[in-house]
Amino acid sequence: MNQIDFSISIAHLYPDLLNIYGDLGNIVTIKNRCSWRGIEVKIENIKSGYRFNPEDFEFYFIGGGQDTQQVLASVELLKNKERLHKAAEQNAVILGICGGYQLLGHYYQPLKGERIEGVGLLDAYTVAGKKRFIGNVRGKCPSVDYATITGFENHSGLTYLKGETEPLIKLSKGFGNNGKDRKEGARYKNVFGTYLHGPILPKNPKFADYLISLALKKKYKCEIPLFELDDEIEEKAHSSSLKLK
Ligand code: GLN
Repeated sequence: MNQIDFSISIAHLYPDLLNIYGDLGNIVTIKNRCSWRGIEVKIENIKSGYRFNPEDFEFYFIGGGQDTQQVLASVELLKNKERLHKAAEQNAVILGICGGYQLLGHYYQPLKGERIEGVGLLDAYTVAGKKRFIGNVRGKCPSVDYATITGFENHSGLTYLKGETEPLIKLSKGFGNNGKDRKEGARYKNVFGTYLHGPILPKNPKFADYLISLALKKKYKCEIPLFELDDEIEEKAHSSSLKLK
C-alpha cells in the first residue's frame, strides 16, 4: 500500500505556555515516524486566543509547565472545552504531558491559590502534594500489549483516576500519579495523559506508533498498517533508560 497518500494533522496546544523538559520532542517524534513512512504531517500551533475546528485535527498535544502557565493555559483550554470534547468523541488522539495531563482532568488544586479548572476529558483530578516526585519511571502499558514504557517524572501534583479512566502504565518503578496506587498516567478512549517527560515518545517507539495508528484510524476509519522502522537508536535509548536508577 502506498502510504504517501496518507496524512495527519496535529494541533499543538499552547506551546507558548506549556512546553518544558523536552516535551516538544513528542511532536518531532510523531512527525518523523510518519515522514519516514511517507505519511505527511501538518502541525498547527494553537496559541492563546486561537479557536479551532475539531474536525481539522486527528492529534492534539499539550505539554507540561509550572502552575503559572497552567493558570493561563486553563483559561484558553476552557474556551475550547466543547471543541476538545467533540474531538475526543470523534476519536481524535489527545496526549497531555504532566501539567497538560493535569488540565485534561477536572482540575488541579495547587498548594496555594485558586483551583485550576481542567477540561474534564479524563475522569481524574489533581491536588498538589508537599513532596516533589522526581526520577525515572517504568512500567507495563496495557494499550501496547503490556510493552514496557520508560521515562522521567518531575511533578508535585497527585493525580487520582475515577470512573472508566484507566492508568496508562502499571508502575514497576517510580512514583507515578500519586506515589500510592502504582498507576501512572491515564487513558480514556483516545485521550492519554502521562507525567513522563523526556520526551516520552522517542524512547518508546511502540507507544508512538500506536498513537500514529489511532490518529490514522480516526481520519481514514480503518486500520492503516505501519511498516516497521529501523528502531536501533530508539531501542538503545529505551534500554539505557531502563538501566537508570
Ligand atoms: N505544576 C505541575 C506539578 O508540579 C506540573 C509540573 C510539570 O508540568 N512538570 O505537578
